[in-house]
Amino acid sequence: MGPTIKLSSGYEMPQVGFGLWKVDNSTAADTVYNAIKTGYRLFDGACAQLPEILSRVANVLASVTLDYGNEKECGEGVARAIKEGIVKREDLFITSKLWPVFEDGDKVEPACRRSLADWGLEYFDLYLIHFPGALKYVDPAVRYPPGWHYDGKSTIVRSNTPLHVTWASMEGLVSKGLTRSIGVSNFQAQLIYDMLRYATIPPAALQIEHHPYLVQQELLNLCKAEGIAVTAYSSFGPASFLEFGFKHAQALVPLMKDDLITSLAKKYNKQPSQILLRWATQRGLAVIPKTVRPEVMAQNLDCIGFDLEQADIDSITSKDAGIRFNQPSNVSN
Ligand code: NAD
Repeated sequence: MGPTIKLSSGYEMPQVGFGLWKVDNSTAADTVYNAIKTGYRLFDGACAQLPEILSRVANVLASVTLDYGNEKECGEGVARAIKEGIVKREDLFITSKLWPVFEDGDKVEPACRRSLADWGLEYFDLYLIHFPGALKYVDPAVRYPPGWHYDGKSTIVRSNTPLHVTWASMEGLVSKGLTRSIGVSNFQAQLIYDMLRYATIPPAALQIEHHPYLVQQELLNLCKAEGIAVTAYSSFGPASFLEFGFKHAQALVPLMKDDLITSLAKKYNKQPSQILLRWATQRGLAVIPKTVRPEVMAQNLDCIGFDLEQADIDSITSKDAGIRFNQPSNVSN
């Protein structure tokens, strides 16, 4: 299975996994199946849907649908691999996430059950609150995945549900056996400190944007001190956000072409992408790169079998510029 990180729940989480954001519905089943054959055991999914405005920009720029919204197809890939005897369910570690419109206390369990049904699974290994900040409930009969906007277009409507109510329901999922571990995503330090005051099951994992332009050292220090495993998303920084037409992503040197990263790739005889992933894993994080290209899948998975010298890790870390790309509030109105 490769290296794992022990979660506070007692379960082991693979340190290198596979991300499912923007894997097109038409290719998702094959992609997951191929990734399992390549050796991936962790899959990071969600019911999510992009803000309408981003979807429109991305559809125009890339002429494809870019989002998750693919749990059913991903589940088909898993089912095929299990049926063919390539893996057993217990060999896999599957993560899904609670979308903000389902953060009201009584909506958490139905949302988790819906995602489980789409995947064709009886339990998740990890279920995360996708973003802090509950939004007004959207009935799945009206629209699913529901997206950010209450009207499906441009209006954000917040819910009054505080986080402790959502978290109590998340804890209920564990006692009902619907997920083995629970955690959060896109949370900052203050909310985590607050949660730790009342949680009876503390968050086992935090998933955050993390790359050399956004190092988040204090948050990592907090998680280390509190025994919360951290998973990095968008490990290649701006690369994931070019297709949305983000000007601040386009303005930066792509990390895979950055002088420091390419010189380290030469020094260690690796790909720039492998240097970026190894930097994150040597900092103790899990990574979940996404690609639909089989040769790149194998390359990304093979990012653990060498070590960067500490001085090289430190030079990459010193590129920190506090630049965050995944900031849904930017497009809220
Ligand atoms: P990524 O950093 O994995 O990929 C960015 C781009 O780089 C993609 O276009 C990909 O095709 C390409 N790429 C991947 N490997 C490459 C390689 N070796 N060489 C060259 N190009 C390569 O970006 P991501 O999809 O933003 O993040 C990874 C995963 O993290 C997602 O699929 C998703 O599961 C998760 N995620 C979670 C959140 C959240 O809010 N929790 C947000 C974003 C992403």
